[in-house]
Amino acid sequence: MNKPEILPDTDIAGPRPRHTTTQVMVGNVAVGGGAPIVVQSMTNTDTADVKGTVEQVAALARAGSEMVRITVDREEAAAAVPHIRDALRKRGITTPLIGDFHYIGHKLLAEYPDCAEALDKYRINPGNVGFKNKRDTQFADIIEIANKNDKPVRIGANWGSLDQELLTKLMDENTASANPRDARAVTREAMVQSALLSAARAQELGMPKNKMILSAKVSAVQDLIAVYQELARRSDYAIHLGLTEAGMGSKGIVASSAALGILLQDGIGDTIRISLTPEPGGDRTLEVQVAQELLQTMGFRTFVPLVAACPGCGRTTSTTFQELARSIQDFIRDEMPTWKTKYPGVETLNVAVMGCIVNGPGESKHANIGISLPGTGEAPAAPVFVDGKKFRTLRGPSIAADFKALVIDYIDQRYGSGAKLPEGAAAE
Ligand code: SF4
Repeated sequence: MNKPEILPDTDIAGPRPRHTTTQVMVGNVAVGGGAPIVVQSMTNTDTADVKGTVEQVAALARAGSEMVRITVDREEAAAAVPHIRDALRKRGITTPLIGDFHYIGHKLLAEYPDCAEALDKYRINPGNVGFKNKRDTQFADIIEIANKNDKPVRIGANWGSLDQELLTKLMDENTASANPRDARAVTREAMVQSALLSAARAQELGMPKNKMILSAKVSAVQDLIAVYQELARRSDYAIHLGLTEAGMGSKGIVASSAALGILLQDGIGDTIRISLTPEPGGDRTLEVQVAQELLQTMGFRTFVPLVAACPGCGRTTSTTFQELARSIQDFIRDEMPTWKTKYPGVETLNVAVMGCIVNGPGESKHANIGISLPGTGEAPAAPVFVDGKKFRTLRGPSIAADFKALVIDYIDQRYGSGAKLPEGAAAE
């Protein structure tokens, strides 16, 4: 019998080099040109409600959103923008604010110069900036105001509001061609052209490349990947990634992560947003958390310490293990805004919470600090490992609280202003 062939190692680990793009400054945040991939989010408050919008922007910023977009849909919203900016600055929040404009952006920006000045970037949708002969003048008006205020813009094409004139033109050309493509392929091409033609028009109007970010959002994963790959292949503008209308709960998270993960691995994307539909009464900051976790699990950035936990199985008969994993994870996320300044580098910490002896000690040894809880039939003892060595064994009803205290001690000694953990000093 022939031996099975083992193929040689091809050493293909890791993402492709980042696609080269032109760097854009949005307020104090660099996007593209090799800068770290930026996390952004969007409020769902009525922008005319200054207090509510300030609270939500502050919550998103606290969660780690590095830019926040707010909708500017009518006069009351435009009038509120400078007050929102001022209230945030008073609280020490300098997160850039982006105005989202549709249909009447040219009018609002012209009539509310304080709004135009307060925003750090304007988002324009080329599919609804104006129609027929008004399109060019209204688009030009926005670009002129952006140039005057020295603000960048995002030209954001969207599958749901695609430029219908352009789409019709491309469909007609396709029908008349010798080898017509399917309608979906033509629509994808219209998305790419909509973004690129608008960017070219903005450049003709005097806007430099380093003031423009492009996006072309679609709601289907395969279409999104194809559109962005084409956009990146044909230009070097900074790129904002996002799956539009991603949906609610796990569906939205999975779809966004699948699409954005592939593009990021391909080196495409300078800033990302995860467009999740919140559960009724749900927390808007979840979209920031998912974006951070996507970038961190893929190895692009570090934001918060990671908690590795096994899924549990028939060997875990109590809920202690799930409760401890959840409590450690929540504790870390809640404390991070303070830890960021108090414990520099703490975001690289790895914690493991494991359910039994099968993988528990092994996985815990790979973490900075890990615990292997007792599974069914095991002695009621939980070994704790610190930097790969067995450190202590916890017993009794207070295992969870004791482990949490050890994590806090570890963070304080490793990342605090005091000395590092002495190598193996306290090991059992
Ligand atoms: S480590 Fe133990 S409890 Fe966790 S999944 Fe593996 S076998 Fe199950």
